[in-house]
Formats: sequence, C-alpha cells, structure tokens
Amino acid sequence: MYLCYIDESGVPEIGRGTSHFVLVGLSIEAWDWKRQDRAVLTVKNRFGLSNAEVHTGWMTRRYIEQEKIVDFNTLDWTQRRLQAQRERDNQLIRVAAVKGPNKAQELRKTYRKTEPYIHLTLDERMTFLRDLADLIGAWGNTRLFSEAIDKTSFGATPPAIPPREEAFTHVVSRFERYLVDIGGVHTVGLLAHDHDDTSADRLTRLMRHFHSSGTMWNRITRIIETPFFVDSRLTVGVQLADLCAYAIRRYCENGETDLFDRIYPRAHRVAGRAVGVRHYARGKNCTCTICANH
Ligand SMILES: [Zn+2]
Repeated sequence: MYLCYIDESGVPEIGRGTSHFVLVGLSIEAWDWKRQDRAVLTVKNRFGLSNAEVHTGWMTRRYIEQEKIVDFNTLDWTQRRLQAQRERDNQLIRVAAVKGPNKAQELRKTYRKTEPYIHLTLDERMTFLRDLADLIGAWGNTRLFSEAIDKTSFGATPPAIPPREEAFTHVVSRFERYLVDIGGVHTVGLLAHDHDDTSADRLTRLMRHFHSSGTMWNRITRIIETPFFVDSRLTVGVQLADLCAYAIRRYCENGETDLFDRIYPRAHRVAGRAVGVRHYARGKNCTCTICANH
C-alpha cells in the first residue's frame, strides 16, 4: 500500500501571481508511515514547532517586526515570541489608525499564518526546512511525482485543460504507472489531498472519470478511491508535499537550488531518467536540471 500526498505551489490562474503552477505527489510506503512521521516530529521538536503546521511559503518570508527588535537572535524563544508579538500588536494599532480596520484585519490574518514561527529567525527557519528536505531526500522508498507548469508558455491563449487539472492528470498517471511497475497483486495506492483546496469537488469528479475511462495515458488499476481530503494542519505528509512543491516552483522560477537539490533525488526514475518530475515550458528550450533529466 502506497500513500501519495498531494499539494501545490503557486496559483493555477493564467496571468495571475506566480509564473509557475506546481503540483506534487509525494509517495511513501504505508508500512513506513510511522517511522517517517516520527522523524519529522523529531526535527519539529528541535525548532519548537511540534504542534505547528509546516507551511513553507509562510516560513521563508522576512518578518519585518523581528528585524526591529534589537539583538533578536540572542533572546530565548519565550522572549522572542513576547517581543515579536508586542511589535505586531503595535503595528496593528498603527495600521488601523492610518489605513482603516479592513487593512488591519488583513494584516491580522497574515500574522496568524506566521504566528507559529515568530520565535525563529529567518536563518533558523531555513535551516529547519533544509533539515526536513534532507530527511525527504534520504528516504529511499519515497518517490516524488510532479508537474511544474510555466504558465507564460500559453501566451494569451488559455490552455484547453486548466493547469491544476492538467497537472493532477500527470501526477495521477505517473503514480499509477509507478504502482504498475512495482507489480504484485496487492499493490495499491491512495491519494491524500489538502482539504482546504477549493478544487476538491472538481478533482474528485476528475478521479471518478479516470476510474471509468482512464487518463490520457493509462487506465487506472492500482490507485483506489477518489482523493482523501485531509487537514494539512494535522497531516505531516501534505506538509512535506507542500515543501517539495515550493522547492520545485522556486527552482523553476528563480533557479534556487538550496531546497530543490535536497528533494530532487527522490524524483521517480525509470532507466536513469527522472520521468516522475516534468517542467512544462513549451517553446523555451529550457535547459534546467528537470528538463535535462526528464
Ligand atoms: Zn526546465
């Protein structure tokens, strides 16, 4: 039994936000789940994040209020939290007075997203993410499946199949193929997806369609059920998929290799080619590592 955790990075809408949309499936062997879950918890504990959801995009940002506190990095975690929170409270009062209650409410929401991490400096947060990425990279039985879509490839013409559905189709097809290649009558896979995602209904219907008619590339015989939608705050696997999706997107967009190089060794390979991870960049003659190895 294989569990494939699915998450994404970037926005799927053409012409909006990020240049890339990335969907990732991170497959683990179900029997090994507990050991891997514990290993992640050990890393989280070291950074005071035992109960926190790892949300890579929020962790890699600069927190301006930390930079306003003198010698922030010399303080202990309790003091850092206290002082950073005080800075935030003051900023909320300032924003409410100058820009109005709606802006203050927006800022409060942003603060809530990063609240679990305010006791860590940006360096420490990056070290934490590197440690997690190293952990994933070292799990020999873990496989990475991903479709990274360069949305600027489409120009002004929107694609017939929207990026999220397209990427989901690729990841499902590659995961299915991987399970078929493993063989054995009892080899099955299950998809676990973040339930916050607004596309739950569409992906469920799409998966039903795959079960009855196959994808563009293969019949579905090994993946069972439609995706199970789980709470990413509590499900470590989805948080790791989020980290991988972020690392791949930042590599494709900015050439950042720090996290990418740590997780890319887990890309599913067949006969030496990393077929599990693809970079769709039509007409760009892309020479990135993903395109070179696909
Ligand atoms: Zn490329």
